[in-house]
Amino acid sequence: MKIVDVRWTPAFIPIEAPLRYAFGSHPGFSRIIIEVVTDEGIVGLGECYGGASREGQLAEMRPLLLGEDPFELERIRWKLAAPTALKLFGHVLGYAGLEFALLDIQGQALNRPVCDLIGGRVRNEVPFSAYLFYRYPNAKGEGEVSNAAQMMAFARELVRRYGFTTLKYKNGVLPPDEEIETFQALREEFPKHKIRLDPNAAWSVTTAVRVARKLHQDDVEYLEDPVWGMRAMKRVNAKAPWVTLASNMSVFAFDDLEPAAFADILDVPLLDVHWYGGISRARLAGQVCETLGMDVGIHSGAEFGISQAATIHLAAALPNLTVAPDSHYHHLTDDVIEGGKLPYGPGGTLAVPRGPGLGVKLDRDKLARYAEMSRTQQMGSWIEDPKRPGAVTHQPKW
Ligand code: MG
Repeated sequence: MKIVDVRWTPAFIPIEAPLRYAFGSHPGFSRIIIEVVTDEGIVGLGECYGGASREGQLAEMRPLLLGEDPFELERIRWKLAAPTALKLFGHVLGYAGLEFALLDIQGQALNRPVCDLIGGRVRNEVPFSAYLFYRYPNAKGEGEVSNAAQMMAFARELVRRYGFTTLKYKNGVLPPDEEIETFQALREEFPKHKIRLDPNAAWSVTTAVRVARKLHQDDVEYLEDPVWGMRAMKRVNAKAPWVTLASNMSVFAFDDLEPAAFADILDVPLLDVHWYGGISRARLAGQVCETLGMDVGIHSGAEFGISQAATIHLAAALPNLTVAPDSHYHHLTDDVIEGGKLPYGPGGTLAVPRGPGLGVKLDRDKLARYAEMSRTQQMGSWIEDPKRPGAVTHQPKW
């Protein structure tokens, strides 16, 4: 089998209401939908982060992929995304989207789901977390989350609608004392839920340790990236040893796992099918973590259905996945896959697809609609928060 075409389409899908985080806001999500075509007529689907630089990566990789056999994954990885290329040129995101498509082709050719190609499923449903953000009101004036009362109402609505048993509370937007009080209110209202915090490294070590101390009795599931950098994470771990630490910002690549383990920097690396270079590489990273005695979680970067399916296949095959993966998915108003958004089951779960490959197909009408939207709505990684000009700089805020 040979690859005869690689094409991609940027798309923008609106979300229920604009999300706020430590360094900006999201009016909606931009992604690039990838199609890899073979001479046998099989089309593999991939997806990566949006933006001109990712399109540039795909344009550079396209001629190198033409003529290759989609089953020769290691040969292709060393051709397109050798470790030096990843480190020096940052090829990882474009390559990861292509890897999803190659595994989708393999699965379709073998009539087996992708999780069967990476070790097989150890679970049939994956429980996801509710992703609690501060939000601006949408065009209808609905959905604002700006204070504790609104955050509580938002959490109640998500738990009622989807049945989530884990809550992820996005921090670094309001002053830490307000967010500490809101966490305590969430803990009181949801005594049996797991609740995690993630200020996206907006805090100093001093602030992070203070937050950990004030929430010592409040059963924090984990504190994710309270500070930036392995050395600062290590300081928080040493000064607040009772709190479980997770990361997708200071520890997010293969090279980071060994120092993270041996310098005792954190407890839970958050894997990602994009940042670790594909579904098969993220699964391998999970096994490295298993050897190093670390549990794993899964990070979310605002996926559409193809990347969401890739994440579910990864989660299906990770025995040491002990915490609910994160997902922005419930914020989306629609999807580009056939049948619309993947449906959540009881307990906020998404079922592991049973069909061949990734188990999702493109809805071409919807892709065309959201590709059109991306012409005017294309966003990069950082959008300034209108209420906090200057927040877009990545320096500690408190
Ligand atoms: Mg994070």
